[in-house]
Amino acid sequence: MRKPVIAGNWKMYKLLSEAVDTALRLKPLVANANHCEIVIAPVFTALKTVADRLEGSNIKVASQDCAAQNEFGAHTGEVAPVMLKDVGCSYAIIGHSERRQIYGETDASVNAKTKAALSADLKAIVCVGEHLSEREAGSANSVVETQLNKGLEGLTVDDMERIIIAYEPVWAIGTGKTATPEQAQEMHGHIRQTVAKTHGDAVAKDVRILYGGSVKPDNIAELMSQEDVDGALVGGASLEADSFAKIVNFEK
Ligand code: PEP
Repeated sequence: MRKPVIAGNWKMYKLLSEAVDTALRLKPLVANANHCEIVIAPVFTALKTVADRLEGSNIKVASQDCAAQNEFGAHTGEVAPVMLKDVGCSYAIIGHSERRQIYGETDASVNAKTKAALSADLKAIVCVGEHLSEREAGSANSVVETQLNKGLEGLTVDDMERIIIAYEPVWAIGTGKTATPEQAQEMHGHIRQTVAKTHGDAVAKDVRILYGGSVKPDNIAELMSQEDVDGALVGGASLEADSFAKIVNFEK
């Protein structure tokens, strides 16, 4: 049985006081949600305070990125996974399409960051997804397959227990265009088959695959009804406690 994960990516929104306020509003709204892991990813500057204020609750905290190194050193502007763990993070989002598109993240850097996150005892939410032109050209499957093969290269079967894959078609992020449940299921099935080839059937059966791209309270149930959809990575609709709580408390 794969336990669903509902994760909120707050991107570069919210001052510290606003992040704390949203987290504290969310807490009672999802206090009874034991059917899924609940994760929020505030900006770096809010991580420690939000993690402290959520301590003992069922909401875990993720960073939106991390460095590829855990050794302290001359890496101006970077934050090591071990430092994220130190301030209360349990997860790191890695390879989000905004990082790939705007900040030049590559499959190689995703791979290095993923390994660094795992070695700091974080779970890694590794994002993959095709652009609209790639989908229209019929190459969505091969694009995602390459991202997975390179991004997860060298990870052991044990490592894979702490990997969560997020399928986020770039054309659906922040656009209001959601993949249809059928499109999501088709790609999630393909992702599971790809993982089976590299890490075996048992790993593929257990790995959680989240869908991301304009998930809202009114489409979560339909997406979650798909066999291979194990949760959601939510951007815009995670910024308000009420709407994120509705997504967490979705009804099958
Ligand atoms: C995201 O940021 O990962 C995302 C899926 O955003 P949105 O839900 O706003 O499309």
